[in-house]
Amino acid sequence: MSKLRLAIVGAGPAGIYAADILLKAERDFDVSIDLFESLPAPYGLVRYGVAPDHPRIKGIINALRDVLDRGDIRIFGNVNFGVDITLDDLKEHYNAVIFATGGQRDAHLNIPGIDAEGSYGAADFVSWYDGHPDVPRSWPLDASSVAVVGNGNVALDVARVLAKHAVDMHVTEIPDNVHDALRDSSVTDVHVFGRRGPTAVKFTPLELRELGEVPNVDMVVYDEDFDYDEAAQAAVKGNKQVMVMDRILQSWRQRPTVNNAPGEAPRRLHLHFFANPVEIRTDDQGRVAGFVYERTASDGAGGVVGTGERREIPVQQVYRAIGYFGSPLEGVPFDERRGVIPNAGGRALVSAESDEQLAGVYATGWIKRGPVGLIGHTKSDAMETITNLIADRDSWWEPTASAEESIPALLAERGVRWTDLDGWHRLDAHELELGEAEGRVRVKVVPREDMVDISRDERTA
Ligand code: NAP
Repeated sequence: MSKLRLAIVGAGPAGIYAADILLKAERDFDVSIDLFESLPAPYGLVRYGVAPDHPRIKGIINALRDVLDRGDIRIFGNVNFGVDITLDDLKEHYNAVIFATGGQRDAHLNIPGIDAEGSYGAADFVSWYDGHPDVPRSWPLDASSVAVVGNGNVALDVARVLAKHAVDMHVTEIPDNVHDALRDSSVTDVHVFGRRGPTAVKFTPLELRELGEVPNVDMVVYDEDFDYDEAAQAAVKGNKQVMVMDRILQSWRQRPTVNNAPGEAPRRLHLHFFANPVEIRTDDQGRVAGFVYERTASDGAGGVVGTGERREIPVQQVYRAIGYFGSPLEGVPFDERRGVIPNAGGRALVSAESDEQLAGVYATGWIKRGPVGLIGHTKSDAMETITNLIADRDSWWEPTASAEESIPALLAERGVRWTDLDGWHRLDAHELELGEAEGRVRVKVVPREDMVDISRDERTA
């Protein structure tokens, strides 16, 4: 075989890193890569998951853009796998496929009231404030008190965006509708609930420290959560991250707002630890009215046990940020329990119960290993998948239609309005221009049709 024609599904960091690693890998065959993306724009989670007030992380886009701008990868955006193009199509046109579709759904929280009006998944809210084209444009920010469940970085993103004053978000790339809704928000109190103690959180020091720097928002922590046992003290001494975060939290205990005594700011962000979600209480119209949790206590070994003591805080909205979950792909095996494509080192398996490899099919990123780890971790993940793909060359598919032009011809025949790299440059320039006019980083174009029209230069005046 003198050439590998590879399809990658998903143009987020996982897919782009995989393409880059393959193109740079030592190999004795040529490679051509087509990157399929369901959205009209590339960069996946960096564009539609990273919070708009995190420009440092958004900056990863620059590295991803450099890869695409080299020009040796073709992009087909606005192409929905399973609808516009199927696994059988890919088998006909390529030697192999790598799925890099991530995890976009919220994990389920199985407590009474979770489906009440006013109870949301963090992923949906994140998609809304990041201007994802497939979520409703409006978001009801009519609650004065909200609960955010979870102690990971997504919980901190959601809590920070809810608590932050719109004027401090204006400079970012948030779409206008998001800015206006945040400006009109009724929120005064954001309560974050973690089921374990302050030394067993999943969020990280930079993200925690940032909460204390949000203008006109007081941090509130509760003395009862800081009565550390030996295991917690050992965690503080033995782990630099935990030590730094403990210092940050302890500094907030010294502030006048401790234990909810009135502070100066019009908004407060409360951190509650040892609080396991039990129920979302609703009013007689089925709307969120309160968040009920069971107080937990340290089990002496780094974990927690329930104490049986129930508490309730009145809130009108609940956001669960307890982890993401992958979505099944048409015709591709799926592990329903873990929300991933069952795989061994990125080689897809015929089912979650089998160790038989499904020839030609690979996975990388969150759809391979689950929704954990920072964006950079995806590189080593891609390295493993690519190494295995190269080693498997004897079992790659043998396509019957491998001419480069056959894919655009197929999409055109099906009436798909796909977007390409030039189109992305056009949309990118348009958004930057809109931003510049307002002294902002960029202004995102949200409706899918507008994104496609601008990308394809098919705007009607
Ligand atoms: P995560 O880090 O896994 O955190 C999930 C949180 O939900 C944990 O505190 C977990 O508690 C809690 N949880 C899970 N099930 C629960 C339940 N049934 N009841 C109550 N709490 C529950 O997930 P994530 O926040 O979605 O983040 C995913 C990845 O993206 C992470 O690697 C994160 O660092 C990264 N990320 C980074 C940034 C950034 O700005 N750097 C921003 C967003 C995301 P336990 O620990 O007790 O299980």
